Amino acid sequence: MFDKESYTLYKFHKQLNQSFQNKRELLECALPALRNLFKLDRVYFFDWQQDRALLSLKMMCKQEYCMDMQEDISVINEPMFLKTLLREGFVVSTDLSYPAAYVLVRWQRPAMSISGEALKTYMEERVGVIRMERFRKNRVFTAQEEKLIKALAEEISHNLRNTEIDQAKNQRLAVSTALNQLATIFASSLRLNDGLELILKGVQKYFRFDRVRLYLTNYDGTKIKSILGADISGQVTVQDETALKEGEKELLREVFDSPNTYTSRRSVIYIPLKVQRNKVGFLTFDNLLSRRKIGYLDFISLKQFSTQIALSIDNAMLFERVQELSNYDELTKLPVRRFFNEKFAEELYRSKRFDLIMSLIILDIDLFKQINDGYGHQIGDWALKEVARVIRTSLRQTDFPCRFGGDEMIIMLPRTNGEEAKIIAKRLQERIRAITIPSRYTEGKEVHLSISQGISVFPMDGKDESSLLEKADKALYAVKQAGRGSFALYRDVAGAEE
Ligand code: GH3
Ligand code: MG
Repeated sequence: MFDKESYTLYKFHKQLNQSFQNKRELLECALPALRNLFKLDRVYFFDWQQDRALLSLKMMCKQEYCMDMQEDISVINEPMFLKTLLREGFVVSTDLSYPAAYVLVRWQRPAMSISGEALKTYMEERVGVIRMERFRKNRVFTAQEEKLIKALAEEISHNLRNTEIDQAKNQRLAVSTALNQLATIFASSLRLNDGLELILKGVQKYFRFDRVRLYLTNYDGTKIKSILGADISGQVTVQDETALKEGEKELLREVFDSPNTYTSRRSVIYIPLKVQRNKVGFLTFDNLLSRRKIGYLDFISLKQFSTQIALSIDNAMLFERVQELSNYDELTKLPVRRFFNEKFAEELYRSKRFDLIMSLIILDIDLFKQINDGYGHQIGDWALKEVARVIRTSLRQTDFPCRFGGDEMIIMLPRTNGEEAKIIAKRLQERIRAITIPSRYTEGKEVHLSISQGISVFPMDGKDESSLLEKADKALYAVKQAGRGSFALYRDVAGAEE
């Protein structure tokens, strides 16, 4: 026996039996199929937002084509036939001058919600309405057609659910792939800040949150070191050493001590970035401005991504620490020669480019061997540290000292002429002279430290690194020859030297 009805159902099923990218694609297939089957003039699809008493029109199909439409229709004042629709799943409206049949479709899709502190992921119920119109009065829907429409609506509901789940999976895969690529780029960028900027721009690009921020903290998670923010335009801003308003401690405690992998406060989501026990920072994002809901997928993907971000940040920080350690001398904590040479070259380039003056002081402790020999190496070390401390605390921010080797230090003084350099040299001489070796090591004798300094000036004394160093060294030699404990400009001793 050939049953026409089940054959129609079978054919419809075959047509919808494919994988759709999204709801729209599915409707673009299902609605024309309905139109052909029932010889309809128009078919509409609405999302029914019951909480807002709205039917929002999504798509309309006429003879030849379907189009996306957006229109919200308030249903507050027509409860009667909608009540029937809700109860029966089907209703034929008699309001219009021609027959219009309404059928409900119900399906579920992955969603998440934030309320107060709690964040939930769940399957969200969705309701849609299909409206089918025939423009001639006499073309009513028969009981048989009615039965068939209900069956087809079930089929569509089923397909909607699968499509939404597929879509969620596909998006998740796409986002994960994109984020993985980002993480790879980040992992290979050596400078922490460059890498972080990339990450933030990427997150902003893929998720389109109103705001994404990355807070970097110290390892025990008690202090915020800096904040990087990206806004809708993809612009990244950096705030250093923010004295965050009150509540910083409380926020940090909440973010890091929460047993969850996220915290939420007023619709802002916080995802902590931890590597084992190290707390490297946290990521926050929100849609407070646009009031868009934060998608289920966005959240899940970001949570996954945060593990990779945390690892990469931890790595980059370690790298920076090692880098920093190798730039400074262990004993005196002054920059080492290699680091100084980099800065010296940079500064010299700048001075030439902008026609700026600059001075160089070479400083050497007088008769330092005697201190070592007389009181021991440890006292020698102590003296070196003291000298370095005085140097560090006597200079301007832009000046750059270094331990050049042994008991010899160099100080670069950008935008400083010879006379000004002499004032600094005098100050150093006095302050270092005030250092006294503790009398318990000197059998009660009062032993002071003394230094000699030679000064050269760019551009008069030399135009490159080596000639400036050489001239300062010559001036220093002249001071040592003349009896130590003083300082001199190269140009003042140049004649005597020959
Ligand atoms: P001058 O006035 O001519 O400079 O006499 P000086 O004795 O200071 O001679 P010089 O500058 O040539 O000697 C530097 C000494 O500094 C030699 C070395 O034993 C000592 N020295 C170098 N590095 C260190 C260090 O890290 N710790 C200690 N305690 N001594 C060091
Ligand atoms: Mg010396």
